Amino acid sequence: MGRDAHGKRALYSGLRPTTPPNTSLRVECSRCGQTSLLSAWQALRVLTPSVHLPLVRPRHPSLLRCPTCRRMSWVRLGLHLRPAG
Ligand SMILES: [Zn+2]
Repeated sequence: MGRDAHGKRALYSGLRPTTPPNTSLRVECSRCGQTSLLSAWQALRVLTPSVHLPLVRPRHPSLLRCPTCRRMSWVRLGLHLRPAG
């Protein structure tokens, strides 16, 4: 029992909860034409604040500060899966 508890503690200390998942947010900017791939934390910062109007602007439905040109721009968002490893 003692060994089991020790093993679990070692397992948990090996985990790094701050590591973002292998998913990036893809931002296609209609203003500068660039596509950016953001980590989870970068995406969180870019998306606050943001406005989403998919009915008015179906091609670029989201208004946020573009990480490339640093201006408020209409963009298209997508998820990009990075290969593991
Ligand atoms: Zn841009």
